[in-house]
Amino acid sequence: MSSIIHLNKIEKQYFMGGQGIPVLKGISLDIFKNEYVALMGPSGSGKSTLMNILGCLDTPTGGTYILNGKDVSKMPDDDLADVRNVEIGFVFQQFNLLPRLTAAENVALPLIYAGVNKEERIERAIAALEKVGLGDRSHHKSNEMSGGQIQRVAIARAIINNPAILLADEPTGNLDSKTSVEVMEIFGQIQAAGNTVVLVTHEEDIAEYAKRVIRLRDGIIESDNINTAQKGSPILTH
Ligand code: ADP
Ligand code: MG
Repeated sequence: MSSIIHLNKIEKQYFMGGQGIPVLKGISLDIFKNEYVALMGPSGSGKSTLMNILGCLDTPTGGTYILNGKDVSKMPDDDLADVRNVEIGFVFQQFNLLPRLTAAENVALPLIYAGVNKEERIERAIAALEKVGLGDRSHHKSNEMSGGQIQRVAIARAIINNPAILLADEPTGNLDSKTSVEVMEIFGQIQAAGNTVVLVTHEEDIAEYAKRVIRLRDGIIESDNINTAQKGSPILTH
């Protein structure tokens, strides 16, 4: 089976004051279709840097990244943006919804860029909201929803284009523990429905919802283990 994500000796340096500061120091990794991976590690270990590379928001300064069969390591920004739109759904810690728009309009945004007509946009947005348990909130704006609901809207937006991978950088970082569990269960359902999910968390009890746990330390992989005590009982949604 070929991997969706193949990293070979990925390096990243940030250049500051003419000096390169190494942050990722040779990350080699394969992630296969339908995996549910938690990326952990102390603050400053390079998790967000790696996620931004995985999500084609940034490029490595060394090594090779093959995403779904395409070498994206040295792609120009415009091509990278196209790949990102097709292959990647990204959820951030800060929810990043547009406050003036309803839940359905926020979820439908990527479809505007994809040139989908309005009727189909709304139909698909409502279907995506149903997948995250918010079918009855399609007309609500951010100020009419809880933090957990808003993050679920952001997840619905991230999956609207059926991306090859769903990436989330500390998606539960702004949520209380009960709401965090609800959000992790949504990710579990999305994975059970056939998607590949990679998320960052620094909380051990959140990582227990993933099937595989990769730990970074100081820019290298410290450990990479299958979680035999995976929590959550994902319900198939289709
Ligand atoms: P984590 O998400 O694990 O906390 P990051 O990937 O955000 O870690 O950061 C790793 C290291 O890289 C930190 O030392 C951070 O200060 C540095 N860093 C992150 N982004 C930049 C940037 N844009 N420019 C310079 N240094 C950065
Ligand atoms: Mg981070």
